[in-house]
Amino acid sequence: MNTIDNRDSIMNIVLLGSPGVGKGTYADFLSKKYKIPKISSGDLFHKAIRNQTELGKKVQDYVSSGELVPDEIVIKLVKERLGKDDCEDGFFLDGFPRTINQAEALDKFMKIDKVLDFVASESEIISRLSGRRTCKKCGAIFHVRNKPPKIDGVCDYCGGELYQRTDETQETIRNRLRVYHEITKPLIDYYRRKGLLAEIDANYQFPEIGRVISQCDEALSDIGNL
Ligand code: ADP
Ligand code: ZN
Repeated sequence: MNTIDNRDSIMNIVLLGSPGVGKGTYADFLSKKYKIPKISSGDLFHKAIRNQTELGKKVQDYVSSGELVPDEIVIKLVKERLGKDDCEDGFFLDGFPRTINQAEALDKFMKIDKVLDFVASESEIISRLSGRRTCKKCGAIFHVRNKPPKIDGVCDYCGGELYQRTDETQETIRNRLRVYHEITKPLIDYYRRKGLLAEIDANYQFPEIGRVISQCDEALSDIGNL
């Protein structure tokens, strides 16, 4: 049995789902539970932008308008990150791949064991996205309705100021959803054809995250026993 305490196989997991579906939150939770890192391409970019590194300067226009960063930049970044020691036993990959080209590149350097596709209704997704607030200092994410900070506008973890990311305004949200539907959604079929896809119903509010995670546990339980 491939239970959490008795995990004898590597778990290389891709997480799919629309922007705003809560992937990042589920990924954090799964990462702690299964003790393998969450690797988020979006986080890597946001951090590079906050620190104004070379990479950050290169990608900031794409990220702030909700456009995709060019494949060659993302692929190189993720390949390097997944090559580090902490990914040896597996990882939850959040935000990558986002194009068929990225998925094909990933297949060339990594064996993927399962793909979890988080699904929620369009109205739920828009509400989740527009209520999101991010800490300027540490990048922690809150939500005005689903996960409010203890003090309005202040980060629970570091006291930093919370703000609405420029890619979380109405217009950019619409653009990100359009990009998702046109470019990223075909990945669902790509992974379904490979027999790797598991659909996860993510129409639950934050306190009920257990109901989402239990579906993930179920989907991950057969890895290594095929
Ligand atoms: P979301 O909240 O929409 O999932 P992320 O935080 O994952 O957004 O990513 C933010 C931005 O970073 C994206 O809108 C895009 O500009 C860029 N980005 C992240 N991952 C990728 C990727 N795999 N390919 C291209 N661009 C990416
Ligand atoms: Zn903070």
